[in-house]
Amino acid sequence: MVQRKTQIVIVGGGAGGLELARKLGARYGRKRHDIVLVEKNRTHIWKPLLHEVAAGALDANMDEVGYRGHGFRWGYRYFYGRCEGIDRTARDVLIAPLLDEDGSELIARHRVRYDYLVLAMGSVGNDFGTPGARANCIFLDDRHAADRFRNKLLDHCLRVSRAVAADPASDARVRIAIVGGGATGVELAAELYNAAAALKHYGLEVFDESRLEVTLLEAGPRILPALPERLATAAKGELTNLGVRVSDATRVVEVTPDAIVTAEGERIAADLKVWAAGVRGATLDGGDGGLELNRTGQFIVRPTMQTTRDDRIFALGDCATYTSPGADRPVPPRAQAAHQMASTVYRNLRALMAGKPLEDFVYRDYGSLVSLSRYSTVGSLMGNLIGGRMAIEGRLARLVYRSLYQRHLFGIHGLLKGAALFLVGHANAIIRPKLKLH
Ligand SMILES: Cc1cc2nc3c(=O)[nH]c(=O)nc-3n(C[C@H](O)[C@H](O)[C@H](O)COP(=O)(O)OP(=O)(O)OC[C@H]3O[C@@H](n4cnc5c(N)ncnc54)[C@H](O)[C@@H]3O)c2cc1C
Repeated sequence: MVQRKTQIVIVGGGAGGLELARKLGARYGRKRHDIVLVEKNRTHIWKPLLHEVAAGALDANMDEVGYRGHGFRWGYRYFYGRCEGIDRTARDVLIAPLLDEDGSELIARHRVRYDYLVLAMGSVGNDFGTPGARANCIFLDDRHAADRFRNKLLDHCLRVSRAVAADPASDARVRIAIVGGGATGVELAAELYNAAAALKHYGLEVFDESRLEVTLLEAGPRILPALPERLATAAKGELTNLGVRVSDATRVVEVTPDAIVTAEGERIAADLKVWAAGVRGATLDGGDGGLELNRTGQFIVRPTMQTTRDDRIFALGDCATYTSPGADRPVPPRAQAAHQMASTVYRNLRALMAGKPLEDFVYRDYGSLVSLSRYSTVGSLMGNLIGGRMAIEGRLARLVYRSLYQRHLFGIHGLLKGAALFLVGHANAIIRPKLKLH
């Protein structure tokens, strides 16, 4: 009798899922195991780079990884498709019909069996039910949204540039409102000024950063709540110097096609609106198999990263929620957490298959860094490793910020290719245009 291979299915090839697929593929190969990655995109781009893609500071084509070639290299199977549900009784994941560009069905709805399942679907922006937010804002959830934002930004810059060329006294401006003063909103605001400053070298001679009108809105008392107050104040100062209007303690109650409306009744006119005010788990619209979810749609996991109701199903990264013993809030939705969870899930899957005891996940907070593009980088390092936080700014902070991506490259390509790609990235930054304009 032919023995069935042990099938480990990972749903989502992002910051955590792709690192796990590579490790499992490299360890088990295809002799007695099948490592299957179900992913709704054809290529991977590390999500923390999306604000740079949106502003045009990074050409995603240079940094993306094709799943098919990557899977072939590392011994896992890549299934192109969107997981829409879980059938825990049959131990299947349900894959939505795959359509081509014209809407014709390429592959019908089908099932993929699993012996062990890892949910690593990440998160999507949380609009907290704010009227008009979903319809009128761009959510930087994936590469498609980042590309859409960049194209719209360039169109508006072109329009303003033409208006100023026709009438030098014109006060035409590109008005951008960003909702959410966390790392994503702050980084995007700074990156926009970097991009605008470069545009005049690429044919928009009369356009410069003075033509940008960026408003950053934060509902809490200050931006960057995860950072010490001194650094948040420094970042606010840097943004204000660039020309950003930073409006903290300002709650957004509605978004219309041309404005953001605040609780105080102010209407902030904006051509482009970005929503970066928190996340919720990426949901499975065809049923989550009765797994336990929290209020923001994340799978609740035990210390082993197994879901609370099924030993065979793990969840990691942004789509999972876990509060470490003694902590007063869950592990934050960050790439470094997804990376660490992927390592624990890897070891625990091996232990589970070998009938050995599983280990508990221990989150190591290496701190947070926020890049203000080429202008500055601020953050705090080490976190709970040294029992306190060490404030860090400037060049050193920039270097450490970049090393996060380096670690991801090692995680998905191995040491040699990861290092080579990092060097190629540096070379490209020097020889290629500073902006992606198409
Ligand atoms: C602009 C921006 C900047 C950020 N900067 C930082 C930073 O500086 N530092 C930091 O630590 N974190 C940062 N983050 C957060 C970080 O990106 C996330 O915490 C991290 O990517 C989470 O990893 P993940 O593996 O859980 O999910 P993701 O990396 O989001 O991967 C999820 C994957 O699942 C796929 N998927 C989703 N649903 C399905 C489905 N139903 N079927 C099949 N596939 C599916 C998606 O296509 C995606 O490939 C940033 C986020 C953004 C948006």
